Amino acid sequence: MPIDATKPYDPDNIFAKILKGEIPCSKVDETAHSLAFHDINPLAPIHILVIPKGHYVSWDDFSATASDAEILDFTRFVGKVARDNGCVEQGYRMLANIGKRGGQEVPHLHVHLFGGAPLGPMLAR
Ligand code: AMP
Repeated sequence: MPIDATKPYDPDNIFAKILKGEIPCSKVDETAHSLAFHDINPLAPIHILVIPKGHYVSWDDFSATASDAEILDFTRFVGKVARDNGCVEQGYRMLANIGKRGGQEVPHLHVHLFGGAPLGPMLAR
């Protein structure tokens, strides 16, 4: 069920639990402000989620309220994770679903990195 991205942050969402160490993840890499881990239900040979460690529901509040240090860290980290995982030469896709019409399911900002195969059209018609 897609979430309402205008709601306040839920500190018990599944990615918050990963950040608190309450449930495991298959970690790819991390920085002071960001964490990358494998998606539990991969939709491509490479499907990595990159999240900020701070409490941001979606790209909307992250882009509006995160500190410059968090935004810099996250932006560079998304690119680094893609490079380090061999996505760049063949090309890849990054995607962030935001709110109800975006189909966002987990109410903590995450960027999907897809790679490792041709990814097809951007959206199904
Ligand atoms: P979205 O629809 O953009 O909110 O995507 C949520 C993503 O989180 C989906 O691709 C799920 O497979 C993934 N996901 C949900 N729970 C976990 C988990 N515990 N570990 C890794 N990925 C997860």
